[in-house]
Amino acid sequence: MKTFQDFDLPKSLQKALDELGFVQPTPIQEKSFSVILSGRDMMGIAQTGTGKTFAYLLPILKQWKFQNNESPRVVILVPTRELVVQVVEEVEKLTQFMSVRSLGIYGGVNINTQRKDLAQGVDILVGTPGRTMDLALDGVLRFDALQKLVIDEFDEILNLGFRVQLTSILSMMKSKRQNIMFSATMTEDVDDVLDEFFEFPEEVSLAPSGTPLEQITQQLYHVPNFLTKANLLKHLLATDETTERVLIFVNNKRIVDLAYELLNEAFPDQFGVIHSNKTQNYRLSTMANFQSGQLRGLITTDVMARGLDISDITHVFNLQFSESPEKYMHRIGRTGRADKEGVAISFVAPYEEESLLDVETLMNMEIDVTEIPTAVEIDEKKLEFEKDKRRFKSIGKKINQETKGAAFHEKKEKNKKVNLGGPGKTKPRKTAPRNRAADAKKAAKRKKK
Ligand code: AMP
Repeated sequence: MKTFQDFDLPKSLQKALDELGFVQPTPIQEKSFSVILSGRDMMGIAQTGTGKTFAYLLPILKQWKFQNNESPRVVILVPTRELVVQVVEEVEKLTQFMSVRSLGIYGGVNINTQRKDLAQGVDILVGTPGRTMDLALDGVLRFDALQKLVIDEFDEILNLGFRVQLTSILSMMKSKRQNIMFSATMTEDVDDVLDEFFEFPEEVSLAPSGTPLEQITQQLYHVPNFLTKANLLKHLLATDETTERVLIFVNNKRIVDLAYELLNEAFPDQFGVIHSNKTQNYRLSTMANFQSGQLRGLITTDVMARGLDISDITHVFNLQFSESPEKYMHRIGRTGRADKEGVAISFVAPYEEESLLDVETLMNMEIDVTEIPTAVEIDEKKLEFEKDKRRFKSIGKKINQETKGAAFHEKKEKNKKVNLGGPGKTKPRKTAPRNRAADAKKAAKRKKK
């Protein structure tokens, strides 16, 4: 097993790692290191939590030499402002014994302050695509000294609709540079932009796209509706002592507030919410309370969760099932980070079965089903937002039988298994996943690591 000593880092950088207490590189750090040092373009497939931020920062900083530039040598693009804050923090931790000027820029705050900060000179710039584009169009931000461009969470940048901003930034970058990209999954959108702007980046991946992290135990409950899901969640939180640090996902901010109301009644002041209607300050202080252990859990949406760097999450709950397989991968990747074990528990209503199938197809495995405990009250009522959802046709029959309240407690032969943990307990899917052939073709186009 390698240690950071094998990376032969400059003393100042090694000292910073020592202070952080990090001894061994994670697999993505080990695999990316020589590729990035070689100067080639790279496309890394790695989920959040695998240590990808240091995977690109360490080789970049190993080669760091003092230069007198005003405009940035390194630009790191990330999808959300929370992630900007987090990456700047990581840069600062690593460069505490070096002289490197770093700056984070993002929308929603005064652009003039950022103009002034930029004018002071910056070496490593971290930004969201929107604000970075605005400042570059302004002419305040110039890319003439740029040596490295990092695009982090590439898939999410495109999912959030930043394609135009990203491509206009790319077209403003004229200097010869190294491009380092990371994405949780290879989506068609990412592939499109790669085709248009980059030539044969070397692909570095730990596992085939879509394979979940080994340390995450995935569980699944079939639940008739949202109110029953809330009952089940409360039951699990009340009876399972290991649910200490919890992230609860729903699909939009309205449901965040609803879930908060339902939970706060049963567990006063134990949960906080993070969503885009809250101010940046509110979000940061909620985060801090969670980080310090004052809050047991956060209720959040996919967009807001992008930037949360929270360690030791014991459980991720999908109170509403994710709308796309990529989102599912991002959500469950919030637990089982670094070398910790994690549990991801999904509640799937009949109208969410289709999304579940998409996820299982992407992962090429079925998630084991756990029975709803008999102590959980099955609520017959559907909320307004559930009423227009259609059932998934091909399994409609099975669901029709099960939606009759208590039928959800009956032990169906098929669903008897209890998840005992780990991917080893899951079965491979029988059907061939949809995009494997296309993926393989595309991957072959890029040079394989
Ligand atoms: P990331 O995937 O970059 O978001 O990193 C996930 C978490 O792992 C962050 O809190 C990092 O500080 C931490 N981390 C990164 N590299 C290591 C390492 N080699 N050993 C232990 N923890 C690490």
